[in-house]
Order: sequence, then structure tokens, then C-alpha cells
Amino acid sequence: MKYDIIYASFGEVFLKGKNKMAFVKRIVKTFAKKTADLQISYSYTDDNILIELNDCDWQKVAEKLDKIFGIYSYSLGKICKSEIDEICKTALEIVREEASENEKIKFETKRGWKQFPIKSPDVSRLVAEFVSEKFNANYGISNPDKIVTITIKPHFTVVSAKKIIASGGLPIGVGGRALLMLSGGIDSPVAGYLLMKRGLLIDCVHFESPPHTSIKAKQKVFDIAQNLSLFLPEGRINIYFVPFTKLQKEIFANVPQNYAMTVMRRMMLRICDKIARKHEISLIATGESIGQVASQTPKSINTINAVSNMPIIRPLACMDKNEIINIAKKIGTFDISIRPFEDCCTLFVPPNPATMPNIEKAEKFENSWNWQNLVDECVENTQKIIVFEGKPIILDDETTKEICKLFE
Ligand code: ATP
Ligand code: MG
Repeated sequence: MKYDIIYASFGEVFLKGKNKMAFVKRIVKTFAKKTADLQISYSYTDDNILIELNDCDWQKVAEKLDKIFGIYSYSLGKICKSEIDEICKTALEIVREEASENEKIKFETKRGWKQFPIKSPDVSRLVAEFVSEKFNANYGISNPDKIVTITIKPHFTVVSAKKIIASGGLPIGVGGRALLMLSGGIDSPVAGYLLMKRGLLIDCVHFESPPHTSIKAKQKVFDIAQNLSLFLPEGRINIYFVPFTKLQKEIFANVPQNYAMTVMRRMMLRICDKIARKHEISLIATGESIGQVASQTPKSINTINAVSNMPIIRPLACMDKNEIINIAKKIGTFDISIRPFEDCCTLFVPPNPATMPNIEKAEKFENSWNWQNLVDECVENTQKIIVFEGKPIILDDETTKEICKLFE
């Protein structure tokens, strides 16, 4: 069907009271930026954006709307004057194009403009009567095959038979920043998506151990970041690559096998803490899910957390792997994450990591060797790379060799 308009409704911003307009403006600003190259026009109020398509393919706009947090849903349809005859005619046009003759059609009216002289149920009834001459239409039926909504506003009415649920959440940029520990796995990109959904800008930190972790693992991180950048208003994402090889080797040389994983995680968190402070970020986030692996038991989380007093957010804490996978598929990171390349955390993994480690023992195993300088070295040698939307970074074998040389 050729639609005239898209009517996008905001989500949770309705809870924002006096600040609502600041949130709305943020959503609209992002929308304007993301659709700058499309031949559309739009206007907005405190609860919607009305987009006139001007012959632009609706799917191109929908693709952008799906990635703008703060937009809860959007309807595709036609627009007409707020007059009952016009509404009836437009509804019939919509039904003709969107419904087949045997489908049960229900009309629902929202009279956003209370001065409109006919009450909502009566509008639905009148439209149903008009349309029912040709179609199986009604307004009070249960289990309809199709719902046609009629939204009456002062200057126009929107008639739509197709509503799409968008990403919801809060507009990014109003909630501050988080430093996301991004591996190449399935979980952490989903955590990043959920953080952005709550309005946070994310920077990522990735630990790499070349030459043990291959360039293909790094490529995964770039590709995941490219994907996440589509959700960010500025379409750019910072990644801090931490050269972890030396410290990781020292950990496995100095710490008993069953505590090596715990100590490694503690070191990673110490480094993240320092990077976050350096960049004035006040929140660290991970893709951990309680009970998923040995490092994600309550005891283990406690022992790891003890090295930092920064808030550590785990958006996936109480989610099942299947739920996480469903989101990963929806946001397009799943296929990247399942490419089989080693992550630094899967290297040197001891056969029996402690699932119930405690802080005292972890400290004891850390006191016997000098790791402080190595942690500082990791922070100092961290390399920042910016990934821009629409400009994928492709690593080749030459780059691989050059990077590996740096670590020899
Ligand atoms: P993921 O699918 O995100 O890799 P996972 O189930 O494999 O998660 P772990 O490998 O135990 O879990 O990692 C737990 C969390 O630690 C990850 O979600 C991520 O936030 C962080 N993490 C793991 N490896 C790295 C890495 N190389 N760089 C940065 N963060 C990492
Ligand atoms: Mg992992």
C-alpha cells in the first residue's frame, strides 16, 4: 500500500512531567538527523511526530524509527480532514487496500481533539456502517482480523490499519554515559542495546590478548560496534582496546589455577574503573547473567566487584540465554557474535574455576606479586578507536601482523 503518512507516538516520556518537552526535543533531533537524506517533512507535538512521506518509501523511514529510542510505536496510514465524511471515505480506502473481503474489521477511534462533535464510539460506528456495505466491518466485535484506528486531531485525522511497535525506551543522551565491557560474545552487545534503551550513551572497552586472540576476534568487536552505532544519535561509538596479554600471562603464572579467572576479572574491572574515571564516565556495565558461568555466581560477583566502588550495571542479570538470543537476533548482532573466534576470556581458561571465591583469598593471591604497574601499563597503552555509522572498519592480514608485532 502507498501510505501518505507515518504517525509516531512517544513512549515513556509521558512520565517526565515538566521535563517532557526536553525529552521530546531530543527524540525529534535524533529523528531529524537520521532522516536528513530522505525527502520527508514532519511536525511534532508533545506526544507524536507526524511524518509526511512525500512519496518516500515508508520502509526507509521505518528502518530509522526502529532505532530511535523514545519512540514507542508508529502507524502507517492516510491523512484526511477532521470531518466525518472525509474520515469515512479514507477508512474505506484503507480497508480496500489492506483487508480482504472475509476479514473481520474493527474500528477504534481516539478523539484527541475533544471539540470534534461526534464521540469516539459513534465515529467508529458511523465509519463501520459506511464501510460495511462492502466489507465485514463493525466496531464492537471481539477477535477482529484487522483493527483500523482513527486518530482525530484538530487539523487532521489519521486513519491507519498498520501499527508497528518500535524500540520504546528513553532518548539517548539525557541519561549520561556508561562504559560497557564489550566482548565478542552474544551477551554484551545485548547489554549495550538495553543500556542505550534507557537513554545512556555507551563507550565500549574491549580486552584483547594478541597474538593469542586473533584479528578476527577484533573484527567481530568492530562489526558489533558498527551495529550498535546505528542506535546512537551521533552515529559514533568509542571503543577502548586494552592490550591485556602481558598482565593476563602474569596472572596465570602467579595465581593458583582455580583463582586465576577471579583475579583476571578483578584486574579487568580495575582497568575499567580507571578508564571510566579518565573519561568521566560514572557507570560500568557488563553482559553478565546470574548463574550463567562460574564468574557469574553471587559469590563470584561479590569478589570481583570488591575492587571498584563504581556502580556496575548488569542489564542481563535476570534474563535467560534464550531471551538474550532473541534480542541479539532482533538487533542484528547474533550472527556476528557466533563467529567462532577466541576472546581473551576464553583463553587459558582453567578446568575448574572457583564458583565460590572469596575476597580474602583473592587478595592473598594478588599480594604475592607486583601487578600494579602492569595494570597502569594496560591503561596507558589503551588505544581508542571510533567506529562511525555506515563506515565499517575492515582489518586485513597486514594490519594483523603489525598489531601482533607491537606485542612481541
Ligand atoms: P558474552 O557473550 O558477552 O561474551 P559470556 O556469556 O561469554 O558473555 P563471559 O565471557 O563470562 O560471558 O563474560 C562476561 C562479561 O564480561 C561479558 O558479557 C562482558 O561484559 C565482559 N567481558 C568478557 N570478555 C571481555 C573482553 N574480552 N573485553 C571486554 N569485556 C569482556
Ligand atoms: Mg564472552
